[in-house]
Amino acid sequence: MTADGRARVLADGNEIPVLGLGVWQVPEGRECEDTVRWALEAGYRHVDTAQAYGNERSVGRALRESGVPREDIFVTTKFYPRGKDAEAEAQRSLERLGVDYVDLYIIHWPQGGPTWAWDGMQRARERGYARSIGVSNFSLGELDELLAVADTRPVVNQVQFSPFEDRRALLDGCEQRDVVIEAYSPLGTGRHLGDDRVGRIADRLGRTPAQVLIRWCLQRDLVVLPKSTHRERIEENAQVFDFTLTDDDMAALDALDTTGGTDRARERKWW
Ligand code: NDP
Repeated sequence: MTADGRARVLADGNEIPVLGLGVWQVPEGRECEDTVRWALEAGYRHVDTAQAYGNERSVGRALRESGVPREDIFVTTKFYPRGKDAEAEAQRSLERLGVDYVDLYIIHWPQGGPTWAWDGMQRARERGYARSIGVSNFSLGELDELLAVADTRPVVNQVQFSPFEDRRALLDGCEQRDVVIEAYSPLGTGRHLGDDRVGRIADRLGRTPAQVLIRWCLQRDLVVLPKSTHRERIEENAQVFDFTLTDDDMAALDALDTTGGTDRARERKWW
């Protein structure tokens, strides 16, 4: 963790801001540009997109028009694993984003197995298209298969993570392997926000359920990627560095897990 607690240092030495804006299901065009612009205005310095999201052009336009220096913003995109070559697809992402490099390039999911795409990922890094490379939706076994053959190790595994999906064995295993977990769907794509138990903690602290769920991730040393297209919610989701959940709050939230503390990244495959 960096001194201000706003970033983590990855195993390759690069820094990643612990709070990022997710833009899955944000349509290309005005809505996506506004969303990214509002986030940058609210202080976010990390945006998480993907080739599969179809909005890289809008993300790139918003970054350029924001006036925030490129080197101050951490940009992630993801290799769509039905594509053939991760290196060639990285180049296409850079063209769509209108940037010279992404900070992080990850395999979106291990379709076809966990290792075949890694050569192309490594080449993308060697060519300077990506500063860091990693994976997403990899269970611990899949990560180990990849580590056994990788020249450059993945530094990140982006997985679904929240108090309700508290993949404790996956987190412990990733920490042991110096792989940072990024928590996707930290609000359960909205489903977890109405939970009474989360709501009671939020009420007591004078916070919102979204802030409690995001804060839980931060106190677990996760990088966290909430998504919203509403300006006030984007701002609200960033107000998470000025309060602390107590040990009792953390324990009460930990008890919501439905995965049995699994080392698996998913309960079901979607591919
Ligand atoms: P989240 O868990 O972040 O939840 C987003 C939902 O919660 C939206 O419906 C949003 O509504 C609502 N919301 C957000 N903030 C608030 C708030 N403060 N108050 C009330 N409602 C709120 O969703 P995602 O599933 O999108 O996950 C976040 C990101 O993680 C994605 O955007 C993507 O970047 C990444 N991801 C990666 C995946 C992978 O396979 N690697 C898979 C899934 C996600 P609204 O937008 O209308 O405000």
